[in-house]
Amino acid sequence: MLHFGPKKIKQGKPFKKMSENGMIQKVDLYQIWEQEEFRQILPFKEYIFDMLIHLDIVSEQRRYDTKTGSRLPIENFFVPCMLTQRNDTDFLTQECTPERTLSLAFVFKGTIIPPALPNRLICACLSMWTLKQYRGRKLMFSGFVGLSVDKEHDIVVCVEGNKILLYLVHKRSKGLIVPEIATSVRECLHLTLERISEFYQSTVHEKVISQLPFHTEYSCSRFICYFPEERLALKTDECVCNHGDDITLNWKVWNQKQKQKQCDPDCTGLSEDALSQIPSNTELLRLSVNCDKLMIHDLAIHLEMEETEWNDMVENYPRNTQMVKFLTLIDLRENNGIRFGDLAKGLREMKITTHTLCMMRRRKQVISSIQDDILDSIPTDEILDNISTQIGKMVFQLGIELGLSIADLENIDKCNCDLTAQSKDVLFRWRGDRLVKPTIRVLEQALVNSRKGARCLEEVVKNVDLQTLRAVETATGKWMKLYVSGSHLKKIVYSSIQL
Ligand SMILES: [Zn+2]
Ligand SMILES: [Zn+2]
Repeated sequence: MLHFGPKKIKQGKPFKKMSENGMIQKVDLYQIWEQEEFRQILPFKEYIFDMLIHLDIVSEQRRYDTKTGSRLPIENFFVPCMLTQRNDTDFLTQECTPERTLSLAFVFKGTIIPPALPNRLICACLSMWTLKQYRGRKLMFSGFVGLSVDKEHDIVVCVEGNKILLYLVHKRSKGLIVPEIATSVRECLHLTLERISEFYQSTVHEKVISQLPFHTEYSCSRFICYFPEERLALKTDECVCNHGDDITLNWKVWNQKQKQKQCDPDCTGLSEDALSQIPSNTELLRLSVNCDKLMIHDLAIHLEMEETEWNDMVENYPRNTQMVKFLTLIDLRENNGIRFGDLAKGLREMKITTHTLCMMRRRKQVISSIQDDILDSIPTDEILDNISTQIGKMVFQLGIELGLSIADLENIDKCNCDLTAQSKDVLFRWRGDRLVKPTIRVLEQALVNSRKGARCLEEVVKNVDLQTLRAVETATGKWMKLYVSGSHLKKIVYSSIQL
């Protein structure tokens, strides 16, 4: 465990601030290190600080210039391990409701989890997703963090006894959770926990123990019963809990098979709750991509669109079938107030499988060749300029995927006659948004979803200056040599932090 200050050390103001809001400024930490007890560290203060970031003990609260995309000097850093304030908000009871939330638990052997573990996990989460604000407060407390994954999905990671609980919350209904998002969040946290556990084991034992100190359990809709994954994966016995929930269904959302184009044979379609919801732009876009023009036409007529309206739509976009299909669905939502249930009814009347609707929950998996540090960065002006020349007529779809409103997109369409200018406008508007961190990873996913593909982005960022060597740059020569070997170095740095 890292101690910023044993009792005999003066703690002062920065220390107090740190335990209240879990944040510290670099200068404050340096000030703490100026005390006699830390004299050995001080010459290497910048390097040690970068190591604290590397080891997920301190996390950057990254700030970017939304105009240029360049990194602003970081003033505040998260230090979850210093937080003492417990979660006293009602976020869990008000937002993580059974109707909108799925949950799983990483269960550790023994009765409690060493606190350093969840703290480092929270730190790693903070570097991946955006810290959520709830009723004007940051959702970061001792052993508790709330984050936005995208505009529809939030997560909560919190510690309870020997469990680290993960809640995935959808804005409207858990029946609309995108399984690929659930799966990637689970995999990401699992991998991070694995990495942190290995690190701790390697500092205690000479040999790395192959068995993980935790396993995963999936919960029922009341978050009371948890079933271990081995039991769910076996599929031999019934996994129905005392409340009558089949936990296999939840498990499937968290464990989406890749490249699966069609529903499982036992898919029951959208849940009642999901059917009662109003579809979002992205959901309608995905649905329109998966249906041909004739099918959308017939569906629209079934849902009481006039033939003349359809003809107008076709005339408005004579060379863009995709736009006709998508805007027809939007029109049905705006003017006829359709919900998922109406779409399902229309499809049934047309004798078409309602599993067509399941497709709008699917998302293509991105296998990225871009390295994580770059993916987590906000694209610069130059990147956006270069990519905008390559979007072409997919600009509208890309805009929807990036979460721009239809009004915004129509406005962009009106103001710019050429597609490059439109793309540029779309990309810069997206980057100005502050709700979800506009990273290259988000852009990459949107490019794949809109069927443009990510190759163009890979090309554009290929020659981008990597900031990954930042830690090395600020290190002194003596320490730089050590940077070469990974796990060995961790041990050295870890023991130096313990000094
Ligand atoms: Zn139950
Ligand atoms: Zn289905």
